[in-house]
Amino acid sequence: MAQAPSLATLAIHAGREDFAELGVHAPPIDLSTTYPVSGLEAATASLDAMAMGGRPKSGEAVYGRLHNPTVARFEEALARLEGQGVDAPVEAVAFASGMAATTACLLAARELGLGHHVVATRPIYGGTDHLLSGGLLDFDTTWSEPGAVPEALRDDTALVITETPANPSLRLVDVDALVRSAAGIPVLVDSTFATPVLQRPLAQGATLVLHSATKYLGGHGDVIAGVVATADLRWAAALRRIRVATGALLHPLAAYLLHRGLATLPLRVGAAQASADALARRLAEHPDVGWVGYPGLPGGDPDGLLGRQMSGPGSMIAFEVRGGFGAARRLVEGLRWITTAVSLGSVDSLIQHPAALTHRVVSEDGLREGGITPSLLRLAVGLEHVEDLWGDLDGALRRTHRRIETPRRAAPVLATV
Ligand SMILES: *Cc1c(COP(=O)(O)O)cnc(C)c1O
Repeated sequence: MAQAPSLATLAIHAGREDFAELGVHAPPIDLSTTYPVSGLEAATASLDAMAMGGRPKSGEAVYGRLHNPTVARFEEALARLEGQGVDAPVEAVAFASGMAATTACLLAARELGLGHHVVATRPIYGGTDHLLSGGLLDFDTTWSEPGAVPEALRDDTALVITETPANPSLRLVDVDALVRSAAGIPVLVDSTFATPVLQRPLAQGATLVLHSATKYLGGHGDVIAGVVATADLRWAAALRRIRVATGALLHPLAAYLLHRGLATLPLRVGAAQASADALARRLAEHPDVGWVGYPGLPGGDPDGLLGRQMSGPGSMIAFEVRGGFGAARRLVEGLRWITTAVSLGSVDSLIQHPAALTHRVVSEDGLREGGITPSLLRLAVGLEHVEDLWGDLDGALRRTHRRIETPRRAAPVLATV
């Protein structure tokens, strides 16, 4: 048997196996909203298959909300990456956003006749916290520490939901332990911060792995998307049924960009991680910085998950600026290369203030449980040169605390010839 390909090779070749046969070098983009039917009998058989969450019979996609070949290519590629180390076939289902994907998982749980109760860990992405706390989808949520999940389970628990590394504190959750303590209840892992390059929760027994593909998978800040991968084909079918029914589709142009982004994912994740590791160490020693949350720092991985669950600490850093909210605000307003913006996983570095921005919708309790303080900032390290990033951070920290005025800019020299 041929040697199994490495992730770096799969990232480039998965979902492209038929190119020679098609005579192309880049994936074709199919923008059709509808498809000619070859005959009513074949079309109805295909429709029935898709209504059950299946794939269309060949050449009978019928309508763009039911199936799109460009989206299916990206799903195939992502499924191959998340399926590394998994013994069963893995399928992926793509959605219009990460939140659409999370919503679809909850609705699919209902479709599958599971209960109306969810156990979830905090901190977690602000939008997920809001969706689970707000009652919109009529699920009852118990927030639990990862170690206390067994006590939180009920007869009607449909899902255990976690995020690792967690947003925004970068705490790691032990997926093996969580799956064991969930005692057969499906576990959903939001693996957005890790990507399949750094961890593969399905191989650890999670039922569902979810990504906001808006972040690292796309990688260039120009696509909003979500995707769920699973080795449980009943779940995959339920997710496709929900997507057909609710219309939370990924557009084929977005799928094309995501598939393109996957090719450089291992390189991007590796390079950003190397810079993040260096920056986290320097921040931890900086006199104007208090706590730093980064799994690669001493104390950042108390359960020893690096090497066992995650192959590296990633490129997200949480840190507290000394001087409270005022200092944090002055810092983010004093940067040059690092843009103050929510989101992450792009080629460029972004910084944001979770309490003011991404986690603004979270309750007081949720903020406290998640350690989301007024001086906390979350830095998503990109691919700029690490010394430019450090110069930016160090300079802004100095100005924040020592109030060194920015030197006046020299008057521009106009039209010197
Ligand atoms: C951004 C994000 C989401 C939501 O994804 P969207 O694509 O913005 O809908 C969910 N989970 C995590 C960890 C995220 O960072």
